[in-house]
Amino acid sequence: MSKFQPIEFYKNKKKEYSLLPFRFEPLSGNNYAVTNLAGEHLIIPRDALENLVRHKLDSGSAHYVNLRAKHFLTDDKTQIAKELLSIKLRTKYSVLSEFTGLHIFVVSLRCEHSCPYCQVSRQSDDKVKFDMSTEVADRSIDLALRSPSKNIKIEFQGGEPLLNFPLIKHIVVAAKSRAGDKNLSFVIATNLALINEEILSFCKEHEIIISTSLDGPKEIHNANRPRPGGNSYEKAVAGIQLVREHLGIDAVSALMTTTKNSLGHVKEIIDEYLRYSFTGIFLRPLSPYGFALKTKTYAAYDAERWHDFYLEGLEYIIDLNRRGVKFREYYTSTILTKMFTSQEPGYVDLMSPSGIGIGAVVYNYDGLVYASDESRMLAEMGDTSFELGNVLTNSYEDIFLNPKLLDPIEESFAYSVPMCNDCAFESYCGADPVFHHGVYKDFIGRKPESEFCNRNMKIFKYVIERMEADPYVKRLFMSWAQPNA
Ligand code: SF4
Repeated sequence: MSKFQPIEFYKNKKKEYSLLPFRFEPLSGNNYAVTNLAGEHLIIPRDALENLVRHKLDSGSAHYVNLRAKHFLTDDKTQIAKELLSIKLRTKYSVLSEFTGLHIFVVSLRCEHSCPYCQVSRQSDDKVKFDMSTEVADRSIDLALRSPSKNIKIEFQGGEPLLNFPLIKHIVVAAKSRAGDKNLSFVIATNLALINEEILSFCKEHEIIISTSLDGPKEIHNANRPRPGGNSYEKAVAGIQLVREHLGIDAVSALMTTTKNSLGHVKEIIDEYLRYSFTGIFLRPLSPYGFALKTKTYAAYDAERWHDFYLEGLEYIIDLNRRGVKFREYYTSTILTKMFTSQEPGYVDLMSPSGIGIGAVVYNYDGLVYASDESRMLAEMGDTSFELGNVLTNSYEDIFLNPKLLDPIEESFAYSVPMCNDCAFESYCGADPVFHHGVYKDFIGRKPESEFCNRNMKIFKYVIERMEADPYVKRLFMSWAQPNA
């Protein structure tokens, strides 16, 4: 018998196959997206889908071969296909065993900015009572280091955390002295107005990186982020340069928030990021929390307008790449990582089971512990559904086994939620019980009306169809799936 056989030899002549679990969703035209438990996807025409489910698919067709290769069907009498699928699924969920990696310390609620959409309902900067105490900080460090995760990231947030820089110094030194075999890393999320050489020399010594806000060109940034002197943009860009001089070009990242001032200006906003040599942007929508809701900023534009803004930006970024400018959109990249790899990017909003408590946890200035950053914003508005305990009076077990954490995680698990359990995009989506509780007062929400669902559904379809239509975009998007490429 020769080593290589004609193609007919490899075809399953019996045409008997079993279906492995999959879901499907109509796309434009005659096409359907089919996805499986491990998040693999294919686009096939309706007749191929019908033949597939009726067990009439021609075993010599390209669709048959592709569907078999990606574990939508098996003609193997052994369990190999099922085992491969289950390995992929286990790998996808393995991140759960690491538990909480991100620990957010709200070291002060004070801030000298007064952004109308601020998500933390900041206090004016003379209220020292809104600073975290050393006692709360020390107890929070104990809890953070109890996490099973080997890699612990401590992120300092506010208000403006640099208004309580002495406490940041204390936490960094104390956590490092008690870290044992944990790998610690630190981030300060700051508007950079108060950054100076002394702070930067401490950051350099302890390898602390900076996350800041850049909402776009001067007019947009200053309109979004009022401060005394009206110069938040000038402070931010000067701060970015200063951080880079001291800590290196990659030591500072920037986040933007889309407000009604941003709409219609996505290209200028992206150009601003390019001007300051950032390699990507996160075109994120405004969250329905904190001052954004109180000041009605959240209602200033709807999901449809954000979607247009996002798509215009994404197309502009694709075009930039086509012209040789390497730049990416991070929300799309997160989805692509989930679509093409078995890695869990760890973006809390797109995790299912939800990332609250699992992906991140918040130690508030007053000792209260929240399941996520958005959870503490909800609490500021009077909804304490995700308040897990107090660092001064509760144990690690009290906090992380609190039904206020376990119930929403269980109830919102997309795999068992109505509509999500049938959705072809469940593997790429998240649960986000905090958003849904904030808007609908339950952990699940009504998906047909859910802005979270509508927004993500549209993006998943767009990304899949865009790749199918243009081989260049497919290559580009596959490179974005690798977070560090
Ligand atoms: S929220 Fe919507 S898009 Fe996401 S899995 Fe559920 S049904 Fe699908």
